[in-house]
Order: sequence, then structure tokens, then C-alpha cells
Amino acid sequence: MNLLEGKTAIIFGIANDRSIAWGIAKAFHENGATLGLSYAGEALERRVKPLAEAIGCTFVESCDVADDDQIRATAEKAAAVFGKVDILVHSIGFANRDELSGPYYNTSRAGFHLAMDISVYSFTALAKAFQPYFSPNAALLTLTYYGSEKVAPHYNVMGVAKAALEASVRYLAYDFGPQGIRVNAISAGPIRTLAAAGVSGFKTMYRRFADLAPLRQNVTIEDVGKAAVFLCSDLAVKTTGQVLFVDSGYNILGIPEELGES
Ligand code: NAP
Repeated sequence: MNLLEGKTAIIFGIANDRSIAWGIAKAFHENGATLGLSYAGEALERRVKPLAEAIGCTFVESCDVADDDQIRATAEKAAAVFGKVDILVHSIGFANRDELSGPYYNTSRAGFHLAMDISVYSFTALAKAFQPYFSPNAALLTLTYYGSEKVAPHYNVMGVAKAALEASVRYLAYDFGPQGIRVNAISAGPIRTLAAAGVSGFKTMYRRFADLAPLRQNVTIEDVGKAAVFLCSDLAVKTTGQVLFVDSGYNILGIPEELGES
């Protein structure tokens, strides 16, 4: 299918071939998009460049989203190369590993700021920097997790950050709406990635997930990629400010089956 034919997408947050951003990049490529990829720093270049080559992508830029100058430079470079940007994907999150275990109240002030800066504010900063270059009907997308709504043990400050990120999606959707630009989020079920490995207890939660979720299957980066194609294509042209769950239905459960059985 060519649902993204003629569209240019810039994707932030590729660390390796397990990254959700890579699942999205592959799906966008399969659907005819022209791609630009961005990664966190020089250390990742070795892993990201071959992935970019595999999908014929030549725009591969390092950008630390904690740095407004780097964000501005990346936006200007993208505009110089592509002229306009139709899709921006933010697939970035970070919190100190030692704050993703134990009680939430142990979160330090600095750790709170860091998680909010990298995982939340960076989406707004990217939206602002790319604003002059968005085409009419452009689509912005970010990645969130159910720990924003309900307590997911050990997710802690990231849960609070994801709640703020989802609120940012709604405010950005309101701001950009009059220009026909849409802003949405995908709330993905647990996927084994570098970022997820930092959350204490993730492996156990991942293993049990398919036993509990209504669809009885784990979520893959390919599943998220397909949903991202939908949200960023003209199929979703009247959908904005939303959080779309790609979680095998886990979020509809009130009580896990093992507790509901007689
Ligand atoms: P991932 O492969 O580790 O991707 C996270 C990305 O964020 C990495 O590329 C990371 O780079 C980047 N990043 C961190 N700090 C950055 C900075 N200052 N500037 C630029 N990039 C930075 O893990 P992922 O699971 O695909 O995560 C992508 C998004 O999906 C995150 O928002 C995550 O919270 C969300 N999500 C994940 C799951 C899951 O179960 N995996 C579920 C729901 C939502 P470095 O590796 O260099 O830090």
C-alpha cells in the first residue's frame, strides 16, 4: 500500500532495530513515505546509519532534544533538504534508571525535571521548531504508555511524564487545528526495547502480558508501525488530540482474568 506516497516524515528516537521508531520507519517506508531519521548522539550513529541505508534514507541527523540549538539546526536542515515536512514522529523518553524502581516518592527534583524535559517538553519544542516547515494537513505523533492513566508499578516518574505528554498532545492539537495540522499519540503495550529495559520488573510484566490481554498477544514494533501509518495518513484526516491504544486491548480490563475466575 502507498498510504504515505508523496509525504515526507522525520522520525526522532531510533536507537536500534528494536526501537518503536524503527517499526514506524519501516512501515512508513513500505507505504511510500520519504524519510528523515534522527538519533540521540554520536554513540548511536554506528547502529542507525545501516538501518537508514536499508530503507534508502539519506537524511540521518544526530539531535539531542535537550538542546534547543540542535533542534533548530535539525529543523532547518530538514527544511533545506525536503522543503516541507508532512509528518513528525517523536518516539523519545528518558528517566534516571534508579528512579524506575522503588517508591515514586523517592523521585528527585533533578530526576523529575530530566524526565519531563526529555520525555515531554521535547515534543513541544520539536513542534515549535518545525512549525514554519509543516505542510497543510501535516501530522504529528508521539508515543505514550498506559502508566499515564493507571499505576504501573515502577513506572513512577515516567507515568507522570506520560500524563503530561498526553495533555501536551491535546494542547498542541488545539493550537495546530486551525492550520489543519493533527497531533496524536499511540499508547503502546509493552515491547522489549532499550528504554523498557530500564523499568524495574519489565521482563515479568512483558512475559505475563499475553496471558492477560484480550487479544492474548504481545505487541510488536510492526503493530505500532501500522497504527502510525493510519494516524499519519489521510485516512485519519479528522482525528486529532487522541491517544490510540495499540495494546492488544489491555487497557479495557478492570480486573485481570485470574482474579475474576470463580
Ligand atoms: P528506545 O529504542 O530506547 O527509544 C527511546 C529513544 O529515545 C532512544 O533512541 C533514545 O536514545 C532516545 N532519547 C533519549 N534521550 C534523548 C535525547 N536527549 N535526545 C534525543 N533522543 C533521546 O525505546 P522505545 O521503547 O522504542 O521508546 C520509544 C518511545 O516509546 C518512548 O517514548 C517510550 O516511552 C515509548 N513507549 C515504549 C513502550 C515499550 O514498552 N517499549 C511502550 C509504550 C511507549 P538513547 O538510547 O541514546 O537514550
